[in-house]
Amino acid sequence: MKCDKIDLHTHSNFSDGLCTPSELIKLADEYELGAIALTDHDTIDGIAEFMFAARCVTDVIAVPGVEISTNCFNREVHIVGLFISPDNTQLKYFLDEAKKERNRRNISIAAKLTQLGYAIDVAMLKQNYVEGRVIGRPHFARYLVDHFDFVDTDAVFSKLLRRGAPAYVKRELPEPEEAIAVIHAAGGIAVWAHPIYRQYNERSWCRKVLKRLVPAGLNAIEAYYVGFDGQQTAIIRDLALSFGLALSGGSDFHGRPNEYEIAGKRGASLPVPGELLKELLDRAGNLFRDNS
Ligand code: AMP
Ligand code: MN
Ligand code: MN
Ligand code: MN
Repeated sequence: MKCDKIDLHTHSNFSDGLCTPSELIKLADEYELGAIALTDHDTIDGIAEFMFAARCVTDVIAVPGVEISTNCFNREVHIVGLFISPDNTQLKYFLDEAKKERNRRNISIAAKLTQLGYAIDVAMLKQNYVEGRVIGRPHFARYLVDHFDFVDTDAVFSKLLRRGAPAYVKRELPEPEEAIAVIHAAGGIAVWAHPIYRQYNERSWCRKVLKRLVPAGLNAIEAYYVGFDGQQTAIIRDLALSFGLALSGGSDFHGRPNEYEIAGKRGASLPVPGELLKELLDRAGNLFRDNS
């Protein structure tokens, strides 16, 4: 297996990404990745297509995954599950609940936007901006860019959708321990995704979360991420070593094929070294052995 670079965090149009799962596999092949994981938000519905497409691309290992949003000490913490079984009923039930909660929130977001003068046609949004799967804030943002006077989706987030902005609606999220447990139940390993995210650039925050999540069974942490510089990667590597965690990483790609940047244009810490995969697989294997 050629495996000098991998990408263990990507989104398809089954959540808020723009590529199909098959297109992601094609990209992995083009970029000569040793492995690629599909980690859609709160859904595993894209995995069947992803794994099917991967059967034609023998050099790329396709890793079935998911990204679960949780509430940890009143902040959003995202837990990625890797090597999960998409047939696990416990995981499916858990994600169905998350989707229901999203639907409830989406209705409130639409009402707030309308009140603020951004009338939104939800049927049209569903028809043209999502492929019938998980709807999140990025879908609203794309709709608003097309129908109102916004330069890009970032501008919509800043003005309306970011936490604290006028059209923001809180979502009831599970505890991270619940996400870790359900990922383990589905045979996967649990990874803390982008432990440093936007404004949360704090070593002490990471320590506080790890003190809680490592005893709960967290297996790995993303040390390589599209927005990280070398110093941030070093901080996370250091923490991983002291907490006994494996390292993971990915591009968190949400875009179109021609925007794919695993080669590290945007993030100094990419590409993700392929050698990480072995340790992650070992941890998954150990879990499997412990549970059986
Ligand atoms: P949701 O899961 O519906 O709460 O939406 C969160 C998603 O929106 C994230 O996964 C990102 O893809 C995207 N996102 C979050 N914050 C921003 C931001 N400030 N600008 C652009 N996209 C964002
Ligand atoms: Mn997203
Ligand atoms: Mn995330
Ligand atoms: Mn993500």
